[in-house]
Amino acid sequence: MFYTQLFFLCNLHSTLFFLWPLAIGFWTLVYHSSHRLPFINFGGGMEHAELERIFIEHGFENFTWIYASDIEVAQWVRMKCTYGCGSYGKKATCPPNAPSFEECRRFFQDYGTGVLFHFRKKLEDPEKRDIYTRKINSGLLKVERDVFLSDYRKAFLFFMDECQLCEHCPGTLLECRNPRMARPSPESFCVDVFATVKKLGYPIEVLKDYDREMNRYAFLMVE
Ligand code: SF4
Repeated sequence: MFYTQLFFLCNLHSTLFFLWPLAIGFWTLVYHSSHRLPFINFGGGMEHAELERIFIEHGFENFTWIYASDIEVAQWVRMKCTYGCGSYGKKATCPPNAPSFEECRRFFQDYGTGVLFHFRKKLEDPEKRDIYTRKINSGLLKVERDVFLSDYRKAFLFFMDECQLCEHCPGTLLECRNPRMARPSPESFCVDVFATVKKLGYPIEVLKDYDREMNRYAFLMVE
């Protein structure tokens, strides 16, 4: 009897040993698939699949649906904009031309869902980052417009990087040369992009030199 029980326990133990990687894999699958949100009808005319067609038509294939509550907002992000960023006071959509931390936090509470767009890029010439950013952000603006025209009136875009639509930015919103197109970066709305995308299973790291590939992100709030 004792040996039978011992045999049973040993077998159980070895079975669990082999099964635990499967259990972790299953959990990872469930976690990530939970971010492929089921269709939620917000009163708009199109389903998620149709909006996804818009993203892909504009050349943005690397995206995922997220809950607005997945977006981490933190006061320290504003401090990094205020101290140590060369764009402070020089971009019409960057701090101090941005809502307060509390207003930013409340803004995201007005939404249930959004879309995270992922961009990977290794720039041959880092000095040309503004040209690359301008191209991506201009394309994203077309997506935002099409989503808005699809009856999602609250569609609101956060650029992949700071607004680079014009070569020379006057530095204040009132003097913005393109106010209909200007949009903030996630960071200027206190979004902790690192914490947010890591939580969603996307790569991001502090780059120590320009030889490394960048992982950059834009957000489109949709409801
Ligand atoms: S649209 Fe032009 S002027 Fe306005 S914030 Fe962007 S770069 Fe500056």
